[in-house]
Amino acid sequence: MAKPAAKRATIVAKTRKQLGKAKAGKAARLKAPQQQAKADAKAMHGDIPPWTDAQVDEAFRRFAAREPHPKGELHHTNAFTLLVAVVLSAQATDAGVNKATPGLFAAADTPEKMAKLGEAHIRELVKTIGLYRTKAKNVAALATMLVERHHGKVPRTREELEALPGVGRKTANVVLNIAFGEPTMAVDTHIFRIGNRTGLAPGKTPREVEDELVARIPAKYMQHAHHWLILHGRYTCLARKPLCERCVIADLCKWPGKTVAA
Ligand code: SF4
Repeated sequence: MAKPAAKRATIVAKTRKQLGKAKAGKAARLKAPQQQAKADAKAMHGDIPPWTDAQVDEAFRRFAAREPHPKGELHHTNAFTLLVAVVLSAQATDAGVNKATPGLFAAADTPEKMAKLGEAHIRELVKTIGLYRTKAKNVAALATMLVERHHGKVPRTREELEALPGVGRKTANVVLNIAFGEPTMAVDTHIFRIGNRTGLAPGKTPREVEDELVARIPAKYMQHAHHWLILHGRYTCLARKPLCERCVIADLCKWPGKTVAA
C-alpha cells in the first residue's frame, strides 16, 4: 500500500538528515589527519620557531631522567652480530629482524663463521625479512671482507664501515654509537620526523637533520640521544597519531598540530 504523502516527506527528511550526519562525521574524522599533515608540512618547511639552547638542554634532561640507560632493540651479542642485525633491519622492523637472527647467530656469530656459512645458507635463515636476497648477499660479502681486510674484526672508523657491502651512513652511525660508544646520530624515519615536526632539527634530508641534531644536542647527552629520540618516535611521537598528552617534551615542542597546550 502506498504511503501517504506527508509520511513519505517525513521519511525523506529523516534520511537526508542521517546522510548529512554521516557526511559530517566523515569530514570530522578526516579533519584531524588533514590538520596534522598540514602541520607536518609547515614544520618540514621550517616555518615554526626554533628551539633555544636552554630548551634543547631541558628536553634531553627529561629524556635522561626518564630513561637513564636506553638500549637499542635489535638483539645482538657482539659488534659483528650488531652490524649484521642493522644491515638486516633496513626497511624492516626490529621485531621482524629479532625473529630471524637467533637462528642465524646460532649458526654464525663471527665473520669467519658467517663467511663459511655462505650466501645460500644465510638466505635460507633470513628469508622472513624483507629484501632478504640482497641482504643475504651483503652479509656474506661483508663477512668475507672483514676476514680478508680487517682480521675478522669490525672496523672502528666510518670510512671503513661504509666501505662494507650494504653499509651506509646510518648503519655506520648505529655501529659506531652502540658498539664503540661514539656520539653519533643515526637518523632513521622516526628521528627524521621528530627533528622536523618538533622544530628541534629541521632538515630536508636525513643528513641535514643529523648535522643539525649533532650541532644542537649538548655533548653530555649525545651518547644516548639517538636512542632517546628513536624511543620517543616509536612509542610517543607516532607518525599518524602522536600521543602529545603523555609526551614529556610537549611544552617545548613547536609542532602546530600538537594536541596539548604549550
Ligand atoms: S607534543 Fe610530543 S608527541 Fe606531540 S608532536 Fe610534539 S614531540 Fe610529538
